[in-house]
Amino acid sequence: MRVAALVLAAGRGERLGASVPKAFLPLAGRPLVVRAIEALAARPEVERIVPVLPAADLARFGALGVVGGGRLAPPVAGGAERQDSMRAGLAALPDGVDLVAVHDAARPLVRPEDVGRVIAAAARTGAALLAVPVRDTLKRARAGRVTETLPRADCWAAQTPQVFRLALLREALAKAEAEGFVATDDAQLVERLGAPVEIVEGDPGNLKITWPEDVALAEAIWRQR
Ligand code: C5P
Repeated sequence: MRVAALVLAAGRGERLGASVPKAFLPLAGRPLVVRAIEALAARPEVERIVPVLPAADLARFGALGVVGGGRLAPPVAGGAERQDSMRAGLAALPDGVDLVAVHDAARPLVRPEDVGRVIAAAARTGAALLAVPVRDTLKRARAGRVTETLPRADCWAAQTPQVFRLALLREALAKAEAEGFVATDDAQLVERLGAPVEIVEGDPGNLKITWPEDVALAEAIWRQR
């Protein structure tokens, strides 16, 4: 099975309120996007890594001089929604790829062994994602009033990488686009086809850097490792 990866780094990171684009914020001295690429490049089975950045930051990324063991593709420009960035990344994949791992640059702390486990699961089943059991009880609410409590034992927090047979993900994306559906993660697109998606239990330390305080937390996890 030939495996490629997309590293999605084209978000504006508005919730972070930083002066540099989120992908370029440092984690232990190296930009988040570089750390995310390094985590994927640690897996020998990943033969190509396509970074997706804001169009305005392509030159800035080029100036970082990321090596990626010769497997790094030229960066491509993302779009307005995460799903648009994913589509741009898929279009840049070389022919012959069987599996694609879609990863958020905002998750620089993913452990390479977990990347390997989720790739192996998708190779078997067609679609798999890293996820962790939720700690909190989840409430659905409307206008500040609870409408439903979800049974916690059934709830998982989705992470990335999420790995798919490329043909399956392309089909799922085409269906979503035809129906005007925008997802917050890629697995949801495949779920909408009715295809099975396997959960691979990941690591709570694979957090998504979203809020300013997450940067300090990520640094602490990095140092502890
Ligand atoms: O916005 P969200 O937290 O879902 O972003 C998750 C990841 O998707 C981030 O790494 C972000 O850079 C990326 N993204 C993107 N293009 C967008 C929006 C988000 O590549 N238009």
